[in-house]
Amino acid sequence: MTFRSETSAVPSIILNDGNVIPKLGFGVFQVSETETSATVTAALEAGYRSIDTAALYGNEAEVGHAIREFGLPRDEVFVTTKLRNSDQGYDSTLQAFETSMQKLGLDYLDLYLIHWPVPSADRFVDTYRAFQALKAQGRIGSIGVSNFNRDHLERLIAETGETPAVNQIELHPSLAQPELRAFHAEHGIATEAWAPLGQGAELKDPTITGIAQEIGRSPAQVIIRWHLQLGNVVIPKSVTPSRIQENFDVFSFELTTEQMQIISALDTATRVGPDPAVFAVGLEN
Ligand code: NAD
Repeated sequence: MTFRSETSAVPSIILNDGNVIPKLGFGVFQVSETETSATVTAALEAGYRSIDTAALYGNEAEVGHAIREFGLPRDEVFVTTKLRNSDQGYDSTLQAFETSMQKLGLDYLDLYLIHWPVPSADRFVDTYRAFQALKAQGRIGSIGVSNFNRDHLERLIAETGETPAVNQIELHPSLAQPELRAFHAEHGIATEAWAPLGQGAELKDPTITGIAQEIGRSPAQVIIRWHLQLGNVVIPKSVTPSRIQENFDVFSFELTTEQMQIISALDTATRVGPDPAVFAVGLEN
């Protein structure tokens, strides 16, 4: 049940559990139920072999449907979903996993992530223990987290004895996350970048558009290439087929060391999303 990277045009990285994940995947946050099937199909047609969804996105059923209809062997698509905040806790996680799998219509999952740490609820360690049990049963290939800060990771590692395979975090040129990336590298955690294009905002940055013009590439391609060369796993989203293809066409050019440094210098530690240290949406009731 390991993803067979040799069947894909996208380079992969090896996770700390020995499984492989494509370096470029496709995100479906805020893609409506009606759009999801066509959008995921367009991504698979363009060559993406990794799809990132979440229980919270409300489109797991459509993602699963599109993947099954496309008809690739199961081990040629890497599927990620995430446990929503309100389902944290040991038993509730086991139940939520079954619900997600029923919606996806798949018999195993490649990667399951705790969507947010929600430190105020203090349930992420128990949640992760349920992830470990599901992995031991062979229901999930790899387990990891999302939006975990260094202190959350340190506690998880200390209390479960296991280092997550992936931490999916907000990461783009305005929020380059150098310290957290260094911590990941030290501990063998793969860094996966969400909002890799700053949800579109970074595409208008004059430094980015300048480099794009200079090398005859689009701003989105320049930023995706910056992620890949930093060693990030990257999951841009678009619902427009031409952009879906454009964002995939990033393996035939390279940024120079100087261009990489210029983009990294845009870091102002500015988030487009919530602060993981305090975010607790979904747990109000
Ligand atoms: P993104 O940075 O991928 O930006 C997407 C937006 O950029 C699109 O809606 C579109 O407006 C624009 N865009 C994309 N390609 C373009 C192109 N070639 N030209 C012009 N404009 C273009 O933002 P995102 O969707 O928030 O993040 C990507 C994925 O990360 C999500 O779909 C989701 O799977 C994941 N995510 C995870 C979390 C989390 O908490 N773990 C949070 C947000 C997103």
